[in-house]
Amino acid sequence: MKVKVDSERCQGHTLCAMAAPELFELSDVDGHATAVDKDVPAHLGETAREASRSCPEQAVSLS
Ligand code: SF4
Repeated sequence: MKVKVDSERCQGHTLCAMAAPELFELSDVDGHATAVDKDVPAHLGETAREASRSCPEQAVSLS
């Protein structure tokens, strides 16, 4: 599974990083998220889905 943050949609709510701190880093400047690594380790699959559901902007996509 791969995870991606759409930087156009991300508004820096930080909920994704709260749900899955292993998967996202937040910018010190604007709080916007980026994926630490596009490849999600198998044991973090459900965590990634939770992070995607938690984003109010639907900015976190999984494939
Ligand atoms: S929850 Fe969504 S909008 Fe908020 S930082 Fe994460 S990706 Fe961006």
